[in-house]
Amino acid sequence: MPEPTADHRLCPTRASGAHTLIAHWIAPGACLTRQRANYHKCPTCQYLGLPAEAVVPLPVEAPREELPVSATPVRRARSKKKKPVEPV
Ligand code: SF4
Repeated sequence: MPEPTADHRLCPTRASGAHTLIAHWIAPGACLTRQRANYHKCPTCQYLGLPAEAVVPLPVEAPREELPVSATPVRRARSKKKKPVEPV
């Protein structure tokens, strides 16, 4: 991922520095326009109130935890329907 510069910034960021699920690169002018228009992501963004030349570093990616591998096979679901009784 490219680093943010004075020409483009990641939108949105989080005040805590955490990752956002969806973000895209925008120009600082677009950022300032969105702030003036009360874009709903701005109140929790690090760029809120900063000048156009401001650069906020990318969030540090936390190491991913390895998912445990299950050695037990998944059991098939069983129907709770009663089987019809066969006539004798
Ligand atoms: S201040 Fe608003 S427009 Fe600018 S980067 Fe943050 S969320 Fe996007």
